[in-house]
Amino acid sequence: MRVFISADIEGIATTAVWDQCRQQGGYDYEAARRQMSLEVAAACEGALEAGADYVRVKDSHGPMTNIIPELLPKEVELTRSKNGSPYGMVTGVEEGFDAAMYVGWHSAAGRDGNPLSHTHNTKTLYIKLNGVKMSEFMMHSWACASVGCPSVLLTGDQMLCEDSRPLHPRLITVPVKRGYGGIVTCIHPQLACERIKQAAYDSIRQPLDDALCALPDHFELEICYKEHVQATKSSFFPGFSKKDDNTIIMSTDDYWDVLVALAWVL
Ligand SMILES: [Zn+2]
Repeated sequence: MRVFISADIEGIATTAVWDQCRQQGGYDYEAARRQMSLEVAAACEGALEAGADYVRVKDSHGPMTNIIPELLPKEVELTRSKNGSPYGMVTGVEEGFDAAMYVGWHSAAGRDGNPLSHTHNTKTLYIKLNGVKMSEFMMHSWACASVGCPSVLLTGDQMLCEDSRPLHPRLITVPVKRGYGGIVTCIHPQLACERIKQAAYDSIRQPLDDALCALPDHFELEICYKEHVQATKSSFFPGFSKKDDNTIIMSTDDYWDVLVALAWVL
């Protein structure tokens, strides 16, 4: 059993403002990256205790060098930084894994369940895929599905958990905070770790024969930028056209096209 864990920071139990998520001298960043590391470590421990033979962690926030390596179990490998792959936050999963877990993830751009809601970056008001506001979880868990890896565990804000549960047959979720507009109400960071460890254990102990979701046959991608200048520029990327001043659209039958487009126009 090979387990892939991708980690973000805006959906951990302690972050509420952008300063906590920025490496350049941001308020409380050191504490936030420590809690991110501890939540990831908890998921690793749960997976290992449940019998995972190999666990790889992908650091997936900002410059992707947030996790403190020595806080992870010795058995785990950690992928840091980025190489521009369209697999983005799940880069490496295409090498072949049996289950994917997501720790510290956050609501989609345009959703009010987390003050730090966004998709990929903060340039867009929303991104829709087949008419649904697309979270980073939707984008990347479908990338995992496209290479045959089912998604089994998601931790983050409550709205993301609720939005995401219907996407995968065996997805277990651990909400660690509830947001509304600018505020978040969080469970205790230590309790978050305990719940994440247990859920990681449960997520790969359940039967996984039917855990892989079926991807749609067709994809309609719509990106609404905050700035019309960005929309016009991105509309020249192959496959896109402009829908209105701030919005571009494309359609395809191949999910890889969606990933490549998002890697370049966001
Ligand atoms: Zn992030």
